Amino acid sequence: MTAHDDNRAEILGWLDDERDNIINLLKTFLRAPSPNPPGNTLAAAQVVRDYLDAAGLDYRVIDPHPEMPNIVATFEGSSAGRHLVLNGHMDVFPVPESKAGWTHEPWGGEEKDGRIYGRGACDMKPGTTASIITYCLLHRLRDRLHGRLTLTCVSDEETFGPWGARYLMEHHPEVHGDCLLNGEPGGPESIRFGERGPLWVEFTARATGAHGAYVHITESATKIAMNVARDLEELTTLEGAPPHNVASAVDAGRKTMDSMMGDGAGDLVSRVTLNIGLIKGGEKANMIPSECSFTADLRLPVGMSKSDLLPKIEDIAARYPGVEWKVVGGDEPSWCDPYHEMVGILQNNVEAFGRPRPTPIVSLGGTDARLWRHHGVPAYVYGPYPYGMGSHDENVDIEEFLHIVRTHVLSACDYLSRPKDS
Ligand SMILES: [Zn+2]
Repeated sequence: MTAHDDNRAEILGWLDDERDNIINLLKTFLRAPSPNPPGNTLAAAQVVRDYLDAAGLDYRVIDPHPEMPNIVATFEGSSAGRHLVLNGHMDVFPVPESKAGWTHEPWGGEEKDGRIYGRGACDMKPGTTASIITYCLLHRLRDRLHGRLTLTCVSDEETFGPWGARYLMEHHPEVHGDCLLNGEPGGPESIRFGERGPLWVEFTARATGAHGAYVHITESATKIAMNVARDLEELTTLEGAPPHNVASAVDAGRKTMDSMMGDGAGDLVSRVTLNIGLIKGGEKANMIPSECSFTADLRLPVGMSKSDLLPKIEDIAARYPGVEWKVVGGDEPSWCDPYHEMVGILQNNVEAFGRPRPTPIVSLGGTDARLWRHHGVPAYVYGPYPYGMGSHDENVDIEEFLHIVRTHVLSACDYLSRPKDS
């Protein structure tokens, strides 16, 4: 047997022995509510701390916001090598007070028919659990590994707030690393190497306003706003211009995207999309509105930057004198090498379990992985299927969860088994 086979056999043995322990960690994690907003993760962070304490592992708590701690742990292998970073968030979506649609207690971590239910049961406490287990098991093998492994369990992801991974990336360069692995939900048939960039723009139209019968006196602010919204649709024909290898991976991933996210998902990934998410305007039926505002939720494809799109938005707004607009949120799209060593490692490990080889694709939603890509660090997402994400009865299939854990541990081990420059 090679050293690789030895490590693999040893890891799989440990994972078998600790199956109940790993499932229990996820359930305990789900029973520690961490809805964001408001974003308090103290209870969830305590679960992580207790687990690391019990394993005898050191960690730091970095908490620029006292209710939103980030847990960072790191160890060195036996010799120089690459630095792999594991990242997962501890906050989750909120649950409406009515718990509408939930047939399981959202904070109960209940198991039924091979699934675990609860808010965060796919986004993303299973993925963060995979990171924790990866860190703890590989620490036992550290004498056989090269380089460094860092664990980051963060807060403030669901609102893309400033106190979690963003804070770490800006103030703690020791978490940048050479490669990132993250377990956000997506589905085990895909590896995500990029994501589209949201751009939220608020438009405001103003007019004099009048009695609803006096349409000859003034323009209507709502009609102007509707015209602007209609013209914005022109932007959705624009496509990104990614580097050749990224473009070919986007093309190759379209079929997988259609089958995972519904027909059409693969087509829209390479162009701008538009959603008019919110409209406010008018007072009552028989008054001509003097003000109307709306927010456009544009999504930029990989290979495009905000600076490509903003002048085109200005051109459209300029057609309507008096219309004002401003960017109210968003982030640049992000992508990295779809044929990176880590992609091949993940694919080989998944295939070795008799599952289909996962396809590299671009994600429609956003994750903290983008922050590493913005720093030039290749960042890959491999996580469970998003059952009930952001909705009710969020859940994870236990076998799929354990598959994600296994794949993360083995892939991190493979990446750190190679000394630097070999
Ligand atoms: Zn998430």
